[in-house]
Amino acid sequence: NDDQFKKVISHAKEYGYVFQSSEIYDGLSAVYDYAQNGAELKKNIRDYWWKAMVQMHDNIVGIDAAIFMHPTTWKASGHVDAFSDPLIDNKDSKKRYRADVLVEDYCLKIEAKIDKEVAKAAKRFGETFNKEEFLATNGRVLGYQEKIDTILKRLGKSLEAEDLADVKALIEELEIACPLSGSRNWTDVKQFNLMFGTKLGATAETAMDLYLRPETAQGIFVNFLNVQKTGRMKIPFGIAQTGKAFRNEIVARQFIFRMREFEQMEMQFFIKPGTQKKWFEHWKETRMKWHLSLGMGQDNYRFHDHEKLAHYADAATDIEFKFPFGFKELEGIHSRTDFDLKQHEEFSGKKLQYFDHEDNASYTPYVLETSIGLDRMFLAVFSNALVEEELDNNTTRTVLKLPAVLAPVKAAIFPLVKKDGLPEVAKQIVEDLKWDFNVFYDEKDAVGKRYRRQDANGTPFCITVDHDTLTDNTVTIRHRDTMEQKRVAISDLKDIIKKEVDV
Ligand code: ATP
Repeated sequence: NDDQFKKVISHAKEYGYVFQSSEIYDGLSAVYDYAQNGAELKKNIRDYWWKAMVQMHDNIVGIDAAIFMHPTTWKASGHVDAFSDPLIDNKDSKKRYRADVLVEDYCLKIEAKIDKEVAKAAKRFGETFNKEEFLATNGRVLGYQEKIDTILKRLGKSLEAEDLADVKALIEELEIACPLSGSRNWTDVKQFNLMFGTKLGATAETAMDLYLRPETAQGIFVNFLNVQKTGRMKIPFGIAQTGKAFRNEIVARQFIFRMREFEQMEMQFFIKPGTQKKWFEHWKETRMKWHLSLGMGQDNYRFHDHEKLAHYADAATDIEFKFPFGFKELEGIHSRTDFDLKQHEEFSGKKLQYFDHEDNASYTPYVLETSIGLDRMFLAVFSNALVEEELDNNTTRTVLKLPAVLAPVKAAIFPLVKKDGLPEVAKQIVEDLKWDFNVFYDEKDAVGKRYRRQDANGTPFCITVDHDTLTDNTVTIRHRDTMEQKRVAISDLKDIIKKEVDV
C-alpha cells in the first residue's frame, strides 16, 4: 500500500541506502544513487546471484562486455525498429502518458470502484452477502468487471502497430466509464524509441551515432563464439553478465522500480534446438529456488506466463514479486529460439554456429534467457524487510529484516561505556572481525539506542563489550530479529556470525 511504500522510500534515504541523483540540484527524475549502505546491499545481491549462477555451475561462465557496442548490433537485435513504448498526449493538460500504463491506471481505478461497491453491498446485506452472486446480478459493477477483462485480453505485454488506434479508442471509452484525467481530448498513440543516443568521435563529419545499451544480453550474443571457443564450452552452456543498461522510460515512477539507468543480471543459456521446453522448465524452477532461498516468503512470488509472445520468443514467463504497490515483474525467463544469433549472423555476415561432436553436425544454438533487474531485486529485498514491530512494553521498533547474507553490515560492536578500557577491547574485536565481515563500531548514546539504530539499519548482530569482558573474555551478542541476547566467548564470534551470514 501507499503508506508502506512511502515509508520504504524515506527509510532508504534516512539510513543511507538510496538517494535521489543530484539532489542538491533538485534531482534528476528516475535516476538514483546508491549510498553507503545501499552500495553494499546492491553488491551483496549481485554477488549472491553471481555465486549461484556462475560459481556453482561448471557450465556457466561470466563476462563483462562494454556498454558501447557497434551500432549495427541494435539493428540486428531489433531495438532500432521495435524497442519503443506507445505514447499518448492529452491535448488539454499537455501531459504525456505511456498508453499501456494509462490503461493500467484506469484498470486499477475501475477495480477500486468495484471493491467500493462490493464493500457497500456487503455492509447493507450483512451475513447473507455473497460476492459472486452480487457481481453476477449487479449490471453496473459487472460492466466494470467486463471492461477490465476485455482490456486485459486485448493488451498483451507490448502493443503492436495495429493496436494503436484501438488503444486510443479504448482510453476514450475508459475515460467516460471512470474519469481519470478529466479530458477526452487525446492525440493519436505514437511509438517512441527508448534508446539513448550519443556520439563517438571528435568531429561532426566523422562522429558515429551510438546507443547506450538498453540491455546487457547483446554483449553476450556477439561474444558467443569467442567464449565458446576460448573456454572450450560444450553445449549446453551459459554466459552470464551483470551491468548497467539505459532506457529512456517515459513514465518512470515507483522509485527504483523503473529507472532510466539501471543494472541487469542476465544469463544466456545456449542449447540444442528442440530441447528448449525442457530447459525453459529447468530455469523456471532453478530461478524460483534462488529467490526462495533468501527466505522472503513463498507467498510473495508467482509466475506470470505470457500468452502473447514477443516475435523472438517461443515461451516466456515472469517471476513476479509482491511489491508494496502489488505483484509486478521482477525477473523474466524467455525461450528465445535462435532469433538473436541468426540476426547477428545475417547482419555481420559471420557464422555463429556450434559444431556438435556427438551429432557430427553444426547448428545455430537456441537460447534460454534469465534476466533480472538488480535494482528491482534491491527494492524487493528492502521493501520486504522493513517492518514495524509492536514490543511487549507497548513500544514499537523499526527493523530492517534483511536476509543476513545480504545485509550491508554484519555486526556492530559497542563498548557498554566510553571508559575503563572498554572501547579498546571493542576496537580490537573490530580489527579481528573486519578481515571476514563488514563490521561497524559505535560508542555514541545509550546501548538501547544503539541497538535500535542497528535494527533499523538491518545489521543482524550487535556485540557489546562490558566490564565482565575484561575478566572473562566474553561479550553479549544480540540477534536483530529475535532480540535474544547470549553470552559468548570472543574467540567464538567469528564462527557464530559465519554460520548465519554464509550461504
Ligand atoms: P517492464 O515490463 O517492467 O518494462 P521489461 O519486460 O521491459 O520490463 P526486460 O526487458 O525483460 O524488462 O528486462 C529484464 C529485467 O530488467 C526486468 O525483469 C526488470 O527487473 C529489469 N528492468 C527492465 N527495465 C527496467 C527499468 N527501467 N528500471 C529498472 N529495472 C528494469
